Amino acid sequence: MFILKGIEQLTNAIAKAKKIRPRVHFVNFGHYQVSGSKGYYTVTMRKDDRGNKAVECRCKGAEKGLVCYHAAAALSLHVGLARQRQTA
Ligand SMILES: [Zn+2]
Repeated sequence: MFILKGIEQLTNAIAKAKKIRPRVHFVNFGHYQVSGSKGYYTVTMRKDDRGNKAVECRCKGAEKGLVCYHAAAALSLHVGLARQRQTA
């Protein structure tokens, strides 16, 4: 799990996601399934008590607090959906 503070945190993970192009399945808003080397990983996003965006992925990298490409891929979908909601 990591706290998303800014887009610069995601730069490397986004670059990797663009290369690997994982499949992202929408489960519900803030909850996604992203394809990885060993099947699908669940990525969830929520705001914690302090209003920080907490992003969680079930892969090994994210368990260590790293920003993984699964999270980056899910976030790019999430941000697009959030924007649609605001304009709807
Ligand atoms: Zn991951």
